[in-house]
Amino acid sequence: MTPETMTAAYLPGNSTVEMRTVPVPAPGHGEVLLRIKASTICGSDIRCIYHEHLGKGPEGYQGVVAGHEPCGQIVAEGPGCRRFKTGDRVIVYHISGCGVCNDCRRGYMISCTSEKYRRAYGWQRDGGMAEYMIAEEKDLIALPDALSYADGAQVACGFGTVYEGLEKIGIDGNHAVLITGLGPVGLATGALCRKLGANKIIGIDVVPERMKIALDLGLCDAVLASGPDNVAQVKELTGGFGVERAVDCSANNLARATAIRATRKWGKIVFLGEGGTVEFNPSPDIIHDQKTIYGSWVTSTWLMEELVERLVRWNLHPDDIVTHRFSLDKAADAYALMASGKCGKVAVCQDEELK
Ligand SMILES: [Zn+2]
Ligand SMILES: [Zn+2]
Repeated sequence: MTPETMTAAYLPGNSTVEMRTVPVPAPGHGEVLLRIKASTICGSDIRCIYHEHLGKGPEGYQGVVAGHEPCGQIVAEGPGCRRFKTGDRVIVYHISGCGVCNDCRRGYMISCTSEKYRRAYGWQRDGGMAEYMIAEEKDLIALPDALSYADGAQVACGFGTVYEGLEKIGIDGNHAVLITGLGPVGLATGALCRKLGANKIIGIDVVPERMKIALDLGLCDAVLASGPDNVAQVKELTGGFGVERAVDCSANNLARATAIRATRKWGKIVFLGEGGTVEFNPSPDIIHDQKTIYGSWVTSTWLMEELVERLVRWNLHPDDIVTHRFSLDKAADAYALMASGKCGKVAVCQDEELK
């Protein structure tokens, strides 16, 4: 039986979490009610919401229930649902789009152009840091039995974002890959590059805890402490040439320049980390060496479905990078830990996922 009220977490913007008791919502047409099982915290939650409400537009937090990386089980469905039903385990694509603009039709609801209907869970509509959540059926991806809810929570924003970027630059056994920034997105990059067959994976970070996680989980072959010698160090690890592929997950000015300069001739670089800036010298750094820099933002619903299928095929479990699990009443501790950076992925869990 679904109760009448539930606990939900809000982020007032002063590095605290506010817990409120609110009514359990009822699903409308084309919507489902999810029992949230796992809800992971993202770097963007910290960057744009937790400390201060800095975001504008798509990153503007409108005082809703926090959490845009939810995964759960359907406990009720509204009228008009066509595929999903009570009992189904589902992942939620974290931005609900209008469904009928060109970007939505491509499955990239992240880029939905409707000012009225584009609403991201945990930003402009209620998200997953609660006992229950309403989701639109069109935003759901089936979660296979072989994957846990904590695996699923990371598919949309974390692993999906990485997979999209890696598909753009292409990763295979010919490639040495540099990852700048070993937070959850960088760790996910290492995990996916392994399965895609990358020959050598080199990571760079500043936080010792993160460097250790990357090595302990076998996601990087070498990890470098961030510093002015990084380009020379990466070249030394790659026969003097540099890597074929680089993925920036840091959003740091200097690390981005390192990603560009440590990439060899004809190499490809993708920027995933959000915010900040970068300075480089186009002629020596990219033009004369025939390099390409890509930007990549989130992913599409269809690529997410393919990723889920491949995670099962590869026996790759995103929840391996979850280093800390908290119950919902300890959500404040979860956000504080994520803000410290001294962790891998942090998850708020309920029921069987709280282990
Ligand atoms: Zn996220
Ligand atoms: Zn749209």
